[in-house]
Amino acid sequence: MNKSIVADERISDAPLSGEETARYSRHLMMPEVTADGQRRLKAAHILCIGAGGLGSPAALYLAAAGVGKIGIVDFDDVDLSNLQRQILHGTKDVGRNKLESARDRLRDANPNVEVELHECRFSSENASGLVARYDLVIDGSDNFPTRYLSNDVCVFARKPNVYGSVFRFDGQATVFAPHLGGPCYRCLFPEPPAPGTVPNCAEAGVLGVLPGIIGMVQAIEAIKLILGIGETLVGRLLHFDALKMKFREFNVRRDLECPICGERPTITELIDYDQFCGIAADVPAMSVRELKRKFDARETIQLIDVREPFEFEIARIDGAKLIPLGQLADRLHELKQNGQTVVHCHRGPRSAQAVEMLRRAGFAPVYNLEGGIEAWADEIDPAMQKY
Ligand SMILES: [Zn+2]
Repeated sequence: MNKSIVADERISDAPLSGEETARYSRHLMMPEVTADGQRRLKAAHILCIGAGGLGSPAALYLAAAGVGKIGIVDFDDVDLSNLQRQILHGTKDVGRNKLESARDRLRDANPNVEVELHECRFSSENASGLVARYDLVIDGSDNFPTRYLSNDVCVFARKPNVYGSVFRFDGQATVFAPHLGGPCYRCLFPEPPAPGTVPNCAEAGVLGVLPGIIGMVQAIEAIKLILGIGETLVGRLLHFDALKMKFREFNVRRDLECPICGERPTITELIDYDQFCGIAADVPAMSVRELKRKFDARETIQLIDVREPFEFEIARIDGAKLIPLGQLADRLHELKQNGQTVVHCHRGPRSAQAVEMLRRAGFAPVYNLEGGIEAWADEIDPAMQKY
């Protein structure tokens, strides 16, 4: 028997009302739920990031199931193109604020549920405060900065981050919870893909029913974590292929070198996630071919590798000095401020952060190596091990 994430002392002694007893009767008759479990659901607080394709079915079913409080973070208006999958919203809601539309639908589904609206972009400034008020997070976001933020804030707060993502006909779901023994998002994906390399649903499309399936998987996982029953997706990544109608699962493990939940974490507070994902990073860049030309011309270049030591073991560019990004601020004295400095990581986002930091510290000129060591392997040294 698993332990519920909702502590016993938070469950009120008050019995369910007659209306609630009738409403939840199909739950109450199950020995895995009973009135005790239903009162635990009533005591639970869940935060949904986004009222879109995943958040819609998740929030709707969680409300129907009797979760006491559901918070929703969103700042969009309902667009006609949303209705193909975002079933919280109807045709009459087009042009309305998504939060208000969601609240009306959830209240209709179950007026016993308290719906809290957070009209904002989920950001490093507000994430910790928001997550502190809830027992778990349903990540229904559709972009990498929000996924990393949702992961990091949940790792710090020791709250499960119930993850889902969809793309065309494929969906994935898992529960990230290092405090429950599983990995976090960064254990699986230490670095975001380079901006522009992974199309999102707006660019590549998504089968409308697919987020329904994945969002409902997220809702089921949330309910199991609250009731403390069954086997959760902690440590397992579920993959669903709608075209083949196949579910597959992969065991996923914590990475002891993970920069946030590993044994020696280098990330100890929330960061700038747009910059981390290379979205806002507007730093001077150098191509791998330009760097190779400069090496060949025997120009003096200070090359800094800001990856982790295990990555340096896999592949390195000759002459690079390894200083993991998390140590850079404390090791600036080891570097020359003047002369050409080039910084690289795996694919570019971490080194973009490092370039920002070095420029603020007075280094000039300093460049980000475009595409990181991966581009070096692709364009300059095909024998180099890729990872
Ligand atoms: Zn991790």
